[in-house]
Amino acid sequence: MSKQLYELGEKPPLGEVPEKMHAWLVRQDRFGKPTEAFQQEVVNTPSIADDEVLVYVMAAGINYNNVWAALGIPVNVIAARNKGGEPEDFHIGGSDASGIVYKVGKDVTNVKVGDEVVMHCGQYSRNCEWVKKGGDPMYSPTFKIWGYETNYGSFAQFTRVQAQQCMPKPRHMTWEESAAYTLVAATAWRMLHGWGASSIKKGDVALIWGGAGGLGSMAIQIAKAVGATSVAMVSGEDKFDYCMKLGAKGCINRNDFDHWGMLPHWKDNAGYAKWLKGVRSFGAKIWEVLGEKRAPNIVFEHPGESTIPTSIFVCETGGMVVVCAGTTGYNATVDLRYLWMRQKRLQGSHFANTEQANQMNELALRGLLDPCMSRVFTYEELPIAHQLMHDNKHPHGNMSVLIGATEFGQGASGKPPVAMVHPTLPKGDVHTTPAPYPMSVPLPSIAEGEALTIADDGTRVRDLMHRGIISCTPDDTVGTVAKIMVDKEIHAVVVMDEQGMAVGVVSQTDMVLARQGRTPDQARSMLAREVMTPGCATCDADMLLSDAVSLLTARRMHRLVVTEKDQPVGVLSMTDVVRKIIGE
Ligand code: NAP
Repeated sequence: MSKQLYELGEKPPLGEVPEKMHAWLVRQDRFGKPTEAFQQEVVNTPSIADDEVLVYVMAAGINYNNVWAALGIPVNVIAARNKGGEPEDFHIGGSDASGIVYKVGKDVTNVKVGDEVVMHCGQYSRNCEWVKKGGDPMYSPTFKIWGYETNYGSFAQFTRVQAQQCMPKPRHMTWEESAAYTLVAATAWRMLHGWGASSIKKGDVALIWGGAGGLGSMAIQIAKAVGATSVAMVSGEDKFDYCMKLGAKGCINRNDFDHWGMLPHWKDNAGYAKWLKGVRSFGAKIWEVLGEKRAPNIVFEHPGESTIPTSIFVCETGGMVVVCAGTTGYNATVDLRYLWMRQKRLQGSHFANTEQANQMNELALRGLLDPCMSRVFTYEELPIAHQLMHDNKHPHGNMSVLIGATEFGQGASGKPPVAMVHPTLPKGDVHTTPAPYPMSVPLPSIAEGEALTIADDGTRVRDLMHRGIISCTPDDTVGTVAKIMVDKEIHAVVVMDEQGMAVGVVSQTDMVLARQGRTPDQARSMLAREVMTPGCATCDADMLLSDAVSLLTARRMHRLVVTEKDQPVGVLSMTDVVRKIIGE
């Protein structure tokens, strides 16, 4: 007679599935810091569908996703699933694992009871029409990240996975090592190998951001395996040795440069020149590290907003910048001239499909991929591991937690096929940058189910605008325009042509940009037509104020020319809107 529940570390006889299991659960009423959100409970062991597998978990990997699941932001994963028809009022996270197959559905052919496996975290419906036609499952609307967007992840004695997620466990790795690498390594594999002619090749140069991080440490090794040369970016020289041992040709300390962040305005001669100086010296550093004047054929991106301008600039003509995250922000700015004239590719990438995950795993099986496990925790410490990540006090590399394994270091049987150097991170290493948002968040699309409510108090542009237009001609000098601005105490002058049509606006920003990189005399003698923002943005006096504000902010402008029956009659400025806020 089988037991109803086995204690942790008490492995049930192979193939025997108890009715209940121990698990770390997150519930909605305790969303918040991981040390409070995660609690040990006993729940029913999940049943499996015909294409699914029940795996007895030996160790699980720790990822940012479940820090966010614990916090309940930006997505309440439990409510989202309940809405989709799943009844459970709890979340069992965990998107990386190693373990032993205990039960298989009747359609499963790739694994059998007793197999030692690792699991990738990509789930999709085998009934999806796109998938059935042979489409990449990563583009299927049914695609989900197991253990974040789905329940019954690896933070429990048993996990429910699709058979296609199971891959052979590298025999030379311990349970905790083999639970550490799959999510990051499969993501890095698709980024580097998933994009046709732009994919990485022997002889290529790759620039790898965050070389000592979870993704970067995998990318260096994947690049090395294909015969490419990589240059690793890190935030300190203490991490150079780590990246070089993984296979980087050399490293660059990003703190030696200060041109990061969004691009300066392309009309800002001085600002742009300063940025160009910074990015050029960064490019020269890449040459120095390589020992030859070559640009990266592929740039492995995830910091996003702060680094994309640089990545696009330094990328080789015809090369690719491939990005899977925006850790520093999502508004990446691109100087399009570099994209089109030098025919570069900016490619988005998200996790990996089954085939790509298995190609990556081949590398691990062959002993050519170190899991870069930097710290492992006991089962009881699972919330602490997430709390460290939440507080940004965790080391670089990848972390795991024991689930069924009773001690550290178990599970390895056999030597690695090739001798591996296990690089170690500097003592006391911790992250210095904020935790990223989840790798997967629902984005609004064309056919979004929920109606959007737009709140508006009915105020019209005519209620706030200033009547009267102060204008200049296209051939007035900047000096003349400046005098008009100062004398009339206004921030912009409308440029009217001979027919009385508004053809542009000279704003204070336009004037300031004209001055950048020129002497006052040179700036003064320029013409309004040369510095104006052409195409005069207008709005009708009857337009809703909220629509006018959207126009202003989307175009990064401070004022609109107001028209009545298509004739300019006044101006609406940001200042007018601010006055309304304070009730003036
Ligand atoms: P990680 O282990 O924290 O490593 C990220 C690295 O980025 C850090 O080690 C840091 O290295 C570097 N970095 C931080 N701030 C930077 C900045 N301002 N400029 C340049 N580099 C900076 O994280 P990870 O596991 O590699 O994941 C990286 C990102 O990818 C995260 O946002 C994660 O959510 C996302 N991700 C996406 C997918 C997907 O499928 N879409 C999959 C996995 C991960 P230094 O401080 O040494 O420079």
